[in-house]
Amino acid sequence: MSMFRQRITNHRKIFFNYTRDIVCFSCKQDLHDSYTVSGNRGKTRCVPCAVKFHIIDEIPKEIEGEV
Ligand SMILES: [Zn+2]
Repeated sequence: MSMFRQRITNHRKIFFNYTRDIVCFSCKQDLHDSYTVSGNRGKTRCVPCAVKFHIIDEIPKEIEGEV
């Protein structure tokens, strides 16, 4: 099964982070092996924080229950 991936704008996308050792900019959750949202200025967030901070409008239906 291929992992869900979505481009919002040039700098905003949702992807599954297999390899990068990063934490959510807002809540500091470890994002290794997690769905991750890249935002402007290199800020990456978990999906719930990306919704909370209006980077994306809502959690995509395809990954509900996995974030
Ligand atoms: Zn977060």
